Amino acid sequence: MERSLLTISAFWLGAALGSFANAAAMRTAAGRKWWGAERSVCDSCGKELSARDLIPVVSFIALGGRCRSCGAKIPLRHLTAEIAAAAVLSFAALRFGLSSAFFFSAAALPFAAFHTLTDIETGYIYDSWAIAMAAAGLLLRVPHGAAALADGAAGAAAGFASMCAIIAASRGKMGLGDAMLAAGIGAFMGLKMTFAALYLAFLAGGITVLPLLIAKKVTRRTAVPFGPFLCAGMLAAMFFGSTILTLFGFMPSWPWL
Ligand SMILES: [Zn+2]
Repeated sequence: MERSLLTISAFWLGAALGSFANAAAMRTAAGRKWWGAERSVCDSCGKELSARDLIPVVSFIALGGRCRSCGAKIPLRHLTAEIAAAAVLSFAALRFGLSSAFFFSAAALPFAAFHTLTDIETGYIYDSWAIAMAAAGLLLRVPHGAAALADGAAGAAAGFASMCAIIAASRGKMGLGDAMLAAGIGAFMGLKMTFAALYLAFLAGGITVLPLLIAKKVTRRTAVPFGPFLCAGMLAAMFFGSTILTLFGFMPSWPWL
């Protein structure tokens, strides 16, 4: 019973975090500031949206996916981002219960959504958001002692160094932004789980890109944004990384036990 209440709460918290990350990503990609007093407006008619139009998931469905004022279609990316984030955090609630691992997932989620969306839209990882992500991951570890903090710092360093080596080998197909993002991921995941996340990211990237290469939809020269795969790898590692590590004979570290 408790677990189902947590899961429902997690769904709405996830939807709200997805909504926030999506708005921040759109504003950042458009070169506007994402914080402060700027109100949300309709992308078509520019009319300011009221609170009842800004409820994640619910408003979109209640409005039938159209603006209340001008009737223009609301871009589907809003609903997609909200539902995807809601699904991830619901799954985190089912997997972890009300534990440190759940709070880590909830804190990492808006960063993952932000980097995924901006990298797809602009092909760019925003360093300030990657640094903020690393800081958030380390900050969450502070109350849990020096060992927890050191594991986060080691994860950040390992993520950054590993990606730098891969970027150097990729000869310009990947940017330093991917290494910055890997540092942010490492701060949340800790040393061993960072390698699980990178492994899963390259697995997901390979599974996605290989059929496109074979179908000649992309060539070996195409720059495919890697941020979304890094974020997917992090989320997959949160949920399945401890199982993978155990399989290889490693003990997963706090909070991903
Ligand atoms: Zn409108």
